[in-house]
Amino acid sequence: MEPLRDGWGREIRSVRVSVTDKCNFRCTYCMPAEGLEWLGRAEILTFEEIARLVRVLASLGVDEVRLTGGEPLVRRDLPALVEMLAAIAGVRDLSLTTNGVLLDRLAGPLVAAGLTRINVSLDSLSHVRFAELTRRDALDAVLRGLEEAERYPELRPIKVNCVAIKGFTEEEVPALAELARRKPYVVRFIEFMPLDADELWREDQVLTGGEIRALIEERYGPLVELPAKASSTARRYGFADGIGELGFVNPVSEPFCSSCDRIRLTADGQLRTCLFSRREWDLKTPLRDGSSDEQLVAALRNAVAHKELKHRINERGFVRASRSMSQIGG
Ligand code: SAM
Ligand code: SF4
Repeated sequence: MEPLRDGWGREIRSVRVSVTDKCNFRCTYCMPAEGLEWLGRAEILTFEEIARLVRVLASLGVDEVRLTGGEPLVRRDLPALVEMLAAIAGVRDLSLTTNGVLLDRLAGPLVAAGLTRINVSLDSLSHVRFAELTRRDALDAVLRGLEEAERYPELRPIKVNCVAIKGFTEEEVPALAELARRKPYVVRFIEFMPLDADELWREDQVLTGGEIRALIEERYGPLVELPAKASSTARRYGFADGIGELGFVNPVSEPFCSSCDRIRLTADGQLRTCLFSRREWDLKTPLRDGSSDEQLVAALRNAVAHKELKHRINERGFVRASRSMSQIGG
């Protein structure tokens, strides 16, 4: 079938599927301390609905699927969904982004179901500062989850994601850089984006990838840039002695929109063509009203044709997205 192409000629190869808007953390850069209402059960797509959409997307050339949330591991029976998606012809790369707190129990079942890659969020290696940021005292559980993931060589790479916030993350950089050298984890720093529910993001709170790299190079000497896929969101670097890998995801200081090949599906079945979209495309209705796969394809093509050229974080008059990060699926 004709591949899925947007109005600017970019081919869509990757979908991020949010399986729940719920979360057991309350990261300050993502959720409010309390009071975000959860979606009702009937609003959330079933595993069968998600698998059908992924099957249709795979027939259009989308070969990369990442499960996210909210916290995807709080969705009951998640390994059953992984198994369904792993069995779809055309899904080449199936991964998961998690806060890691339930991973010690679930890594084994997820790998058995066919998961091959994992990203674990970890912003601090200090108990006090971890709790300050996530509003949960769960650092040890996350580290246990990572250790458990390490036991499965089929689950690689293991990526550790840190949201970089000015005035906070500088202090974490040495320990996180060491983590990348001491463990088989690729440690990645992600620039803070205006997707926090509290709407407290300001440009001067962004600690850029360039600034973090400079901090690391002060201590370890020049890093060596490693090749990355054209559509990759991260720039990859190795330490000069060949031990350890780092990644820098710089959506604010170095936007990568021109090579964006992603779309997102929210837990309630809305297609988003950009993290910063102001508009969503309802797929839950066609999934539930007896529409055919051909009709789904038409709805997907129409939505993708309208994909935004780029985000406008750095432009005057930037308007925030219609939902915050945990509700979209990062
Ligand atoms: N709960 C899971 C987790 O934390 O990994 C998956 C969902 S979370 C929304 C996905 C990713 O988005 C995480 O790596 C998180 O750190 C990142 N994130 C959340 N809010 C962000 C923000 N305002 N700017 C940049 N990244 C953010
Ligand atoms: Fe939850 Fe992930 Fe958002 Fe933290 S970043 S509040 S873990 S969804």
